[in-house]
Amino acid sequence: MTPPRNSNAVRDIANVLHPYTDHRAHAVNGPLVISRGEGVRVFDDQGKEYIEAMAGLWCASLGFDNKRLVDAAYRQMQKLPFYHGFTAKSHEPMIDLAEMLIERAPVPMSKVFFANSGSEANDTAVKMIWYANNAMGRPDKKKIIGRLKGYHGITIASGSITGLPANHKMFDLPVSDRFIHVSTPHHYHGANPGESEEDFATRLAEELDQVIQREGPETVAAFFAEPAMGAGGVIVPPATYFEKVQAVLKKHDVLFVADEVICGFGRTGSYWGSQTFGITPDILVCAKALSASFLPISAVMVNDRVFQALADGSATIGTWGHGFTYSGHPVPAAVAVETLKIYDEMDIVGHAKRVGGHMQKTLRARFADHPLVGEIRGIGLVAAMELVADKATHRNFDPGAKVGPRLAKLAEGEGVIMRAMVNDSMGFSPPLIITEAEVDEMIARVGRALDALTVQLRRESIA
Ligand code: PMP
Repeated sequence: MTPPRNSNAVRDIANVLHPYTDHRAHAVNGPLVISRGEGVRVFDDQGKEYIEAMAGLWCASLGFDNKRLVDAAYRQMQKLPFYHGFTAKSHEPMIDLAEMLIERAPVPMSKVFFANSGSEANDTAVKMIWYANNAMGRPDKKKIIGRLKGYHGITIASGSITGLPANHKMFDLPVSDRFIHVSTPHHYHGANPGESEEDFATRLAEELDQVIQREGPETVAAFFAEPAMGAGGVIVPPATYFEKVQAVLKKHDVLFVADEVICGFGRTGSYWGSQTFGITPDILVCAKALSASFLPISAVMVNDRVFQALADGSATIGTWGHGFTYSGHPVPAAVAVETLKIYDEMDIVGHAKRVGGHMQKTLRARFADHPLVGEIRGIGLVAAMELVADKATHRNFDPGAKVGPRLAKLAEGEGVIMRAMVNDSMGFSPPLIITEAEVDEMIARVGRALDALTVQLRRESIA
């Protein structure tokens, strides 16, 4: 049936250039138009209901309706719809939010800088590090180490730290040889036969040490890591990994930047992923759940050592010339303040730990033995189910077969929105407010989609 000319689908195809979308395929297939939300569910413009298994983009932590957040935005818009922080201007929502973040930080932090997105926050962290090292009279100490499959955003600097080779190739990134990548801490694919998690972690820390020695420790400034990798396929590091990595970084005076854009605010079953994995960051970046994604805002927290170097810069290299028009915008800041209050009141950490434990257990019980499922991994309320062509060798399907995207499409039919990532890893990162009953419903729907996929792949002799 051809859609009417004035339908959302036709107008979308005619006018919207989508992020992360195959434009030619889109012209044929059209969009899924989401019109409204309720709790962990969204509804499309035809009225069909979906459980949002990814909380949108790992971000809608309080689901898709929340009157308190709407009221907080409305109140702030009436009182002061815009002000900024340049040249020492300020306003109450920015002050309140900074104070609340410092109080909740996983390690003593000194100051908070605000931006609008995870990418901007990571770019800001890079510029802070470069500025600080210029201010400290060590202009050669500038290199940034990321990890393959790490995701830190898509701007020129954050996209350079991101470790997805396909994304690099299409945009000529990394932008300079200041950006280096080390191995992904994924035991399932990266470990040698029989290698324990601890031995694998030791080997990765040794690799990091060798890379820093090769580059020259006097040229290496910082290491960026997500506590648990998200968009790279929900990769939970092997036991002892961060302990060993941090020892190497300390030895070479390399800063640790924790990218908590996904892990922050309860996702891994602690308030911060840094707490779950014993990380002591010098800089912490957060976004997404900071405002429950009702409005865009991100934050960069720095410890006192980094702050002192930034503060010294005024006298030596010139006043910190960095900031966005909307850094600390009062409306998203007011919404974020309300969000953090809600987290405290509902005990977000206890809830995520309890329901996350249930989700991890149920996913494994339901799918671990499935012939298409190679690995189920995750922690708290974030998980991935990796589909494989060969369970014994961990061999993935040919990417051309698009097995993961096909499961995502079938799941959509069953009423679940989920995400296919690298290696047909299917992501689960539902709103943090999800209940155990909703987790069961989500998994039952995915199960029906997986059964349908299995039948299709067998018919096509792919599985
Ligand atoms: N860091 C991490 C860990 C992320 O998951 C993302 C986005 N998924 C980003 C940074 C980039 O954030 P944004 O899309 O808001 O720029």
